[in-house]
Amino acid sequence: MAWLLGRICDIPIHPQHRLIIWRAAIKTNFLIGNFQTANNLINFLLPIPGLPEQPILLRMQEKCKQENFKETHSPYPTKAVYPMCFQTGRLIKYGKCYMCTVCNATFHPSFRKTLCSFCLGKLDTIEYNPNPN
Ligand SMILES: [Zn+2]
Repeated sequence: MAWLLGRICDIPIHPQHRLIIWRAAIKTNFLIGNFQTANNLINFLLPIPGLPEQPILLRMQEKCKQENFKETHSPYPTKAVYPMCFQTGRLIKYGKCYMCTVCNATFHPSFRKTLCSFCLGKLDTIEYNPNPN
């Protein structure tokens, strides 16, 4: 279930639904001891401005570090979690992407527009660590 939730995070569903799945994936992987996966997912959520659970995520990340990012129940080798471009479906592996300030949809750096294609919200550039640890 934890692994499945982690993979569902990559599917370009409606951004608000994706955020719910993302939170569930973090919580589930953290609770079963998949600290690398939880940490990777947290790294992507943290840059979202105004995220209410940011202090909790930072504490969870500290715990992941204390646990040496071990993966207790992961069926596959640990890998970085990349955001997916909501326009093209491509994974974004550059450490930088555009994120809608309204619905949190993410877009590849080659997406040359300033407004979200879902809700017409303004796009901001965000940076994330594509290869944590
Ligand atoms: Zn949007």
